[in-house]
Amino acid sequence: MSLNPKRTVAELKELRELTSDENGAQRVAWTDVWLKARKWFATKLVGMPIEHHYDAAGNNWVTLSGASEKTLLIGGHLDSVPNGGWLDGSLNVLAGLEVLRRIHTEFKGKPPLTVRLVDWADEEGARFGRSLLGSSAFAGTHSIAADRVRTDRDGITMEDALKRCGVHMDRFPEAEKERTNAAAYLELHIEQGPVLEKMGLPLGVVLGTKGVERHAIRFHGQEAHSGATPMKLRRDALAAAAKLALEIRAIAGRHEDAVCTMGSLKTFPGIVTAVVGRAEATLDQRDLDAKVLAQMLREAQEASQRFAKEEGCTVEWSRIWSIEPIPFHAHLLELCEQSVKEVAGASHRLPSGPLHDAAEVSRAGIPTVMMFVQSLRGISHNKIEDTKEEHLEMSVAALDRLADKTMNWILERR
Ligand SMILES: [Zn+2]
Repeated sequence: MSLNPKRTVAELKELRELTSDENGAQRVAWTDVWLKARKWFATKLVGMPIEHHYDAAGNNWVTLSGASEKTLLIGGHLDSVPNGGWLDGSLNVLAGLEVLRRIHTEFKGKPPLTVRLVDWADEEGARFGRSLLGSSAFAGTHSIAADRVRTDRDGITMEDALKRCGVHMDRFPEAEKERTNAAAYLELHIEQGPVLEKMGLPLGVVLGTKGVERHAIRFHGQEAHSGATPMKLRRDALAAAAKLALEIRAIAGRHEDAVCTMGSLKTFPGIVTAVVGRAEATLDQRDLDAKVLAQMLREAQEASQRFAKEEGCTVEWSRIWSIEPIPFHAHLLELCEQSVKEVAGASHRLPSGPLHDAAEVSRAGIPTVMMFVQSLRGISHNKIEDTKEEHLEMSVAALDRLADKTMNWILERR
């Protein structure tokens, strides 16, 4: 029984059948449908000589012990957003399972080193707004105190929802012991963007996950009557915010892969007969280079001051959230590129805008790399999320090659 990528596609369809409705995948973490997906996954392990357990943060571990305790990790997540797609996260898990089967067969149940497959708990953060929950517990970067009191739409706390699934947040730190002997981490994922499709490439190598600077920006002007206030005498907070909304495109445009988004803008009083006295905007900036990210933030702040002055307003900034860029391991990038080229002929290196569990694993100091497979129309977190079946099969084959090369690299290292 050698690698069978067609089986991965068939299993993805099986999972879709089991956990989707007419609006898409409904495998939201800590819900019954998610538990059903995990139960289904466990049936796929029957008959393999593996150890299977859930850690203290609810991460789902499958271990094939090898001659060496040094361990190769392959990961993904079975949870989805509400009305999600059939591939986000689950492709990674099921492709990893197929690779595990191949290794098990090739080495007759005893590979030269230990291989573990992990299905991370709550990658999406869809219910409580906290992404990468399980992998952050693994990495030791969790924030239990802030997270336990988070509530979902029905007012249920995160702590209670997890308890219902047998996970006690006080015990999160115990998940860190899963890091023992971890020598490398691999994650395959759909791109969720349009770059590979535009280039006509099935597969790509992920350079790392972009750092994020997320801020709230408030422009203060003067509410005034729209009929009585001459144009020259207005202090229009919306005018200042609007100038910034256009300027951030130029700020991002000076760097190849940088992105800046003003995703929300509220005006006060927000009525048709008043000049806007207060405008509240959000800005999300991302790049793989920490220096570029810092520079873009500085430029946006300077521009906001300038525009505020021009419009007779003031401006204040407050940080909502930030994370540093996480570049992946240089040698694993090489191995990933070789694997992609062997399977697809050509490769491309690109950063990831979305965050992934791989970022947390890399933060824990474990050599990490990700591989992307093309997303059709660049759409994800939506029931129309899709990838050509031939590309899915290629992605399984390329992940398998990468696993093979990485095992050899781990064995040669010491
Ligand atoms: Zn995902």
